[in-house]
Amino acid sequence: SDYIEERKVRLTGRRFEHIISVHRASIGDRLRVGMLNGKIGEGYITQLNDNFLEMEISLTDNPPSPSNVQLILAMPRPKALKRIIQDVTTMGIKKIYIIKTWRVEKSFWSSPVLEEDNLFEHMILGLEQGKDTILPEIRIVKLFKPFVEDEIPVIIKNTRAIVGHPMSKKECPRDIEEPVTLAIGPEGGFIPYEIELLEKQGFESVSLGNRILRVETAIPFILGRFS
Ligand code: SAM
Repeated sequence: SDYIEERKVRLTGRRFEHIISVHRASIGDRLRVGMLNGKIGEGYITQLNDNFLEMEISLTDNPPSPSNVQLILAMPRPKALKRIIQDVTTMGIKKIYIIKTWRVEKSFWSSPVLEEDNLFEHMILGLEQGKDTILPEIRIVKLFKPFVEDEIPVIIKNTRAIVGHPMSKKECPRDIEEPVTLAIGPEGGFIPYEIELLEKQGFESVSLGNRILRVETAIPFILGRFS
C-alpha cells in the first residue's frame, strides 16, 4: 500500500487486485489494513478506479501480540524455503536464521529466493494470509561453528531450545511453552557433530516419531506443539 497521509491509504497493484477480484469491494465498504509499524487502520473506501482504491482510515494502537518463537533453519531447497517463510510468518515467528550446515547443497546459496526483496515479499504474503502485521527478522548465516559457539548462547538465553532430530530417544513434548528456539536440519539431516555442538549449547534434541518428515512438514508439526 502507498501510505499517503495521516488518515488516507492508497492501495495499488496485487493487493488492490485481490480486494477487487476476490472480495468484490466497492465504494463505502469497510476495510482493515495492517501497517508494518504494527498499527491497524480501519475505515471506508472513498475512491475506486481501475488502478487503485483510496480509503480514509483511523489508526488504532492494537497490534497483535508478538510471537516468541525463533527458528534456526538449515537452508532447504529454495522452493521449500519460499513456502516455509510464508507459512512460519503466517503462524507467527519472531526471527528466522537461515544457516549453513554440512549437508546443505552449495548451489542453494545462489538462489534468488535469498535476495532481500524476495524474502520480504514472501513474508508479506505470509502476513497477509494471517492478517498479522509483525514482520519477522531474517538473518543468513554461512559459518556454522562460530554461530553456534558465539551467537547461539545469546540467541537462546531465556528460551527453551529444541532441535528436531529423528535419531533422538526423546519424544517431542506435546505442550512446549514459549519462548522457544527451534532448530531444523536440512534434507539430509544434521551430522552428529552438529547435533553435539547444539546440545553442548543447551539444545534438547527431540524426535517426532519414526516417520521422517520433510523439512516443510516438520516445522508446522512442531510449531503446533508450542503454547
Ligand atoms: N535422514 C535425515 C536425518 O536422519 O536427520 C532426515 C532429515 S529430515 C528430511 C529434515 C529435518 O526435519 C531434520 O533434520 C529434523 O530437524 C526434522 N525432522 C524430520 N523428521 C523428523 C522426526 N521424525 N523427528 C525429528 N525431527 C525431524
